[in-house]
Amino acid sequence: MNQEKPKKGIAVLGSTGSIGTQALQVVAEHSNSFSLEVITANRNADLLIEQALKFDPNTVVITDVTLYQKVKDALSHTDIKVFTGEQSLCDVVTMSSIDVVLTAMVGYSGLPPTIAAIKAGKDIALANKETLVVAGALITRLSKENQVNIYPVDSEHSAIFQCMAGEFHNPIEKIYLTASGGPFRGKKAEELKSVTKAQALKHPNWEMGAKITIDSASLMNKGLEVIEAKWLFGLKDEQIDVIVHPQSIIHSIVQFNDGSMKAQMGLPDMRLPIQYALTYPDRLPSSFERFNFLEYPQLTFEQADRATFRNLDLAFLAMKKGGNTACVLNAANEIAVQAFLEEKIGFLDIARINETCMDKIDFIKDPALEDYISTNLTTRRFAAELV
Ligand code: NDP
Ligand code: MG
Repeated sequence: MNQEKPKKGIAVLGSTGSIGTQALQVVAEHSNSFSLEVITANRNADLLIEQALKFDPNTVVITDVTLYQKVKDALSHTDIKVFTGEQSLCDVVTMSSIDVVLTAMVGYSGLPPTIAAIKAGKDIALANKETLVVAGALITRLSKENQVNIYPVDSEHSAIFQCMAGEFHNPIEKIYLTASGGPFRGKKAEELKSVTKAQALKHPNWEMGAKITIDSASLMNKGLEVIEAKWLFGLKDEQIDVIVHPQSIIHSIVQFNDGSMKAQMGLPDMRLPIQYALTYPDRLPSSFERFNFLEYPQLTFEQADRATFRNLDLAFLAMKKGGNTACVLNAANEIAVQAFLEEKIGFLDIARINETCMDKIDFIKDPALEDYISTNLTTRRFAAELV
């Protein structure tokens, strides 16, 4: 990026998480290009305070009100503003000094601040895929109305975006989202019955927050990404395919209407897609480790096992059915994953709960925001009963 460009004001929602902490590294490495305006956490007050003292943002938000005083006291000798409560997230993203809001919160909680940011005309660097899964039609419409760009942070979607750069006018025939297959690739239902939380939390290629790591093990993550891709790139259901690629070097592939396929490659490192989302259409230098072909003599591909990893199929079904179905699937999955992490249910129960909720919760064809809110609440309650 040209040095003369004004600095971009960045808000990082969920700065204490896996994506959030890596985003702060990217912003700090390019302090000539970015100014960090806002950082936020849910409960991790200690890390939020540490980040605030290190990066000196304009404002911090700690969502949990019981931790407000702790953060306030720790920053009382600075001029950093401190806010608390969920509504504060929606308020701070509208600050005039912010250009881009990086949504790195987890789950449905990302929806309200993302909507607030879009309505305030802020570009979105979107990590929080659940927002598009829950309310893709609404978010897409709002972003058009407010002339807001949504830049993907998810590595697969960043890959597709990078392949499309310079040829957005060319029709896409198909995209292939690559999937590592997770820690249980190749296992059958019988073996999956007894897998533990510790095993599910061991992802072969990526270090991520707990929720997305479990989603990767159950292939729910890939399912959510299918729906995310539909909305981000305006694709038809049949234009989206998934291919298992255990090495996670090819991050995804676009096939254009002349049959040409473009892939984006690199070592798995989320800082690259985070940085690209913040600097598009420019590329800034990075010190990230480079790919070495000789260390990967073979890149391999296989079919996803949708019968065993039912969640991927459920996502395709939810996408096809439309309306509030993906919102139902997402809410059910959030409750089920939490219950699995608390060791209240087994691994295969996650898909069972998701499927039951999709069957039982009332279908709404053209949901408004209130419908998404009520669908989310109703599904959570129902899923909790199934646990
Ligand atoms: P983490 O669990 O590591 O971090 C989540 C962040 O959001 C933390 O800062 C957390 O605060 C905050 N947070 C959690 N719940 C709430 C809430 N209810 N209200 C306000 N803030 C909240 O998640 P990840 O960084 O792994 O993932 C973030 C998002 O990015 C997810 O949507 C995920 O699917 C997506 N993503 C992540 C990737 C990765 O490599 N990690 C890759 C691609 C996408 P606190 O620390 O206080 O709990
Ligand atoms: Mg991904």
